[in-house]
Amino acid sequence: MKIRGLGNNDFNCLPVVVEYGNAMSDESKKQYSSTFKVTAIPAFTDNYIWCLQKGQNAVVVDPGEAKPVFEYLESNELTLTGILVTHHHFDHVGGIDTLLHAFPNIPVFGPNNPKITSITQHLIEGDSIVLPEIDAKLSILETPGHTLDHIVYFDEQHLFCGDTLFSGGCGRMFEGTPPVFWHSLQKLMNLPSHLGVYCTHEYTQANLAFAQHVDPHNEALKTYSAWVDSKREADQITLPSSIAQELAINPFLRCDMDCNQDKAIANFARLRKQKDNF
Ligand SMILES: [Zn+2]
Repeated sequence: MKIRGLGNNDFNCLPVVVEYGNAMSDESKKQYSSTFKVTAIPAFTDNYIWCLQKGQNAVVVDPGEAKPVFEYLESNELTLTGILVTHHHFDHVGGIDTLLHAFPNIPVFGPNNPKITSITQHLIEGDSIVLPEIDAKLSILETPGHTLDHIVYFDEQHLFCGDTLFSGGCGRMFEGTPPVFWHSLQKLMNLPSHLGVYCTHEYTQANLAFAQHVDPHNEALKTYSAWVDSKREADQITLPSSIAQELAINPFLRCDMDCNQDKAIANFARLRKQKDNF
């Protein structure tokens, strides 16, 4: 199921972010449609468990809770065929064991962290995974910073980025350091700008309050904030965002505006600390 060494040709529009080592196998040359439908299953108070579905098959990302997943599967008559994990925090992995009781033989993909005992396929940067049941192929980047084990999944349309990048913000820096986290964010900034950003939390409105505080003259940010306010007023989801949108409005992705990398890292460190106390 896992293919290592994704060839560069798979993402023609991608800048070279990662060195993919091996030539493509025949299997990895196969085209995947990426036409799976993506639905947000709300969990806890502000988490989303992303459900990727095609036909009657479904794959979920970071199921911190099992109950809302079971309810969604049942009401849509879906079978769970896989689980993707971005990092070890409980609100991302807490529902896995219960889901596996009902679907005992499905693959669980995730980082190589022994703390997450249910993972069956450990992934590292440059790996790609094929999910034939939903006609999908996803590539993996390592994005330490929020935690050291954090990975993200992407294809030609979607980025499932867990708690690394939020709309208007980024994850708290629990385990990484500013240079490490900044380097991870740069990997996401270099992905194709049309990619949808499917992060785990509905933090957008609070993030934008901080963003406007530190970037008060950003017109794109003002426009986006008004849209987000109207969505939240109507109790609607603000996601997915896009890489392009985040490059325009997210202060954590704008630390390198008009400066060198050392200054960008210093800016990131200052901004992250400021946000923690905002
Ligand atoms: Zn987390």
